[in-house]
Amino acid sequence: MSLDRRSLLRSLATAGAAAVAVEGTAQARVRPMAPADALGLLYDTSLCIGCKACVVACREANGTKPETSNSPGGIWDAPMDLDGQTKTVIKLYKSPDGIQRSYFKAQCMHCVDPACTNACMLGALKKKEHGIVSYDPSLCVGCRYCQMACPFNVPKFEWAKAAPKIVKCELCRERAKGQPAVDGSGFTRYPKGQGPACAEVCPRSAVIAGTRAELLAEARRRIASHPGRYKGFREDDPPKIFGETDGGGTQVLYLSHVAFEKLRLPNLSDQPVPEVQQTIQHGIYQGFAAPILLYGLLGAAVFRNRRAAGEKPEKGGES
Ligand code: SF4
Ligand code: SF4
Ligand code: SF4
Repeated sequence: MSLDRRSLLRSLATAGAAAVAVEGTAQARVRPMAPADALGLLYDTSLCIGCKACVVACREANGTKPETSNSPGGIWDAPMDLDGQTKTVIKLYKSPDGIQRSYFKAQCMHCVDPACTNACMLGALKKKEHGIVSYDPSLCVGCRYCQMACPFNVPKFEWAKAAPKIVKCELCRERAKGQPAVDGSGFTRYPKGQGPACAEVCPRSAVIAGTRAELLAEARRRIASHPGRYKGFREDDPPKIFGETDGGGTQVLYLSHVAFEKLRLPNLSDQPVPEVQQTIQHGIYQGFAAPILLYGLLGAAVFRNRRAAGEKPEKGGES
């Protein structure tokens, strides 16, 4: 029996319907919300003086070694970016004409719906207490899918080590030693020595810690009381709090006196990044489904037609 054109088209339509059903499953995904006690940081570029006390405090709190390879003579701690031993870094932005300048602090954003935890098949990265995106090295196999998934290019790999692991900020959760955060001076914080070290040492309060709700309220207060100081994603956009909704929201928030795009932050929609990635993947699979099925059906048609015509299979082939 040969496979005619009509049955071929019917089969392709069935494959298309199956792909649409898969897409429907992706759309049914439940969006996680930030927990009520979600902790985070608010970093304000207009207050930062680039002293890097936060970088030093981060190293002390996390026991990481200075990154000296970029400094003349290899004697200064001068990380250019996050790396396998650097969980936070201060970068300097200068406009081409040198007039506009801004420091920028990078670390894990503690996304509300993190792409890294969705990409990690072994659960080595997970959202834990206070919504902190935490890392369990005992579950990590070093596949680095989290690195590829993160829209902020945060997780780094310990390339120099024999048994390398992922390195990223965990909001100093180990310093909390299981102690609950406390409410003090209008912000929820850990006692001295138990919360995010970078926020604790900042001499300008350019980076502060608190619950996400407190930090959002503080950021809105600053925007309202300093008209013209803060920028949006692009130079002419209205002021915004980066992380309020970007990529589904983050627990680390930014205010900036230069456009966020100049600080190389990604221009994300409000849709959580894992949802965007899932939609793209399903689109790709959907695109593959019909051609794969078509090849299969054509192969079957050729095989059956050849058998019907009494052809013998070649040596080493079907018997
Ligand atoms: S400690 Fe504060 S002022 Fe100094 S670089 Fe860090 S964020 Fe900026
Ligand atoms: S910034 Fe990257 S590493 Fe941090 S929680 Fe978001 S996806 Fe994960
Ligand atoms: S919260 Fe802790 S680990 Fe994260 S950047 Fe600040 S000091 Fe480093």
